[in-house]
Amino acid sequence: MSTTPHLDKPLFSAEEIRTRVHVLADAIARDYGADEILAVSILKGSFVFTADLIRALAAHQVHPLVDFMTLSSYGSSSMSSGKVLLHQELSLPVKGHRVLLIDDILDTGLTLQTACQLLIQKGAREVRTCVLLDKPSRRVVPITADYTGFQVENVFVVGYGLDYNNRYRHLPGLATLKFEVAPGAT
Ligand code: 5GP
Ligand code: MG
Repeated sequence: MSTTPHLDKPLFSAEEIRTRVHVLADAIARDYGADEILAVSILKGSFVFTADLIRALAAHQVHPLVDFMTLSSYGSSSMSSGKVLLHQELSLPVKGHRVLLIDDILDTGLTLQTACQLLIQKGAREVRTCVLLDKPSRRVVPITADYTGFQVENVFVVGYGLDYNNRYRHLPGLATLKFEVAPGAT
């Protein structure tokens, strides 16, 4: 069956996201105090959020070390495959660090759970999690983020770094994507 995705409804504007990111940075800065943070951003979807979050943290005189790991569970469809693949490893040592794991969206929870396990295996002293979006209705593993931007319904979200087949990442705000069956499609 062939479907044509198109942008549906705006969810959060660039301004709403900016305000929320500053609230998250404020909470993180208060919780960590003078302790050093190793921010680990899960690529690709969280690169825009991470960029804004670390600069919002800098406004609170918090300057984390930053590293990236590339994980994927989606492949090229909009349904989670249920299997999380590690495509690119961290480059910084993790041992003894307080890690702030950053992801774009917490859906089934498998990606964040896998990433947390990897970081603990590598000797992280602590792993806290920060997600821009949370879809609690989709959870298959019991995991809650320590810092959450917004909760959303079971919709497919694009923009602000989040993609569908590597498109839509450039959008300044977040919007839902609609999958419509093309007329005459089988
Ligand atoms: P989980 O492993 O929690 O099921 O999925 C998390 C990953 O799936 C996210 O990091 C994100 O890359 C992708 N994902 C889940 N829901 C959405 C969505 O609504 N839109 C986009 N673009 N990606 C999503
Ligand atoms: Mg992701």
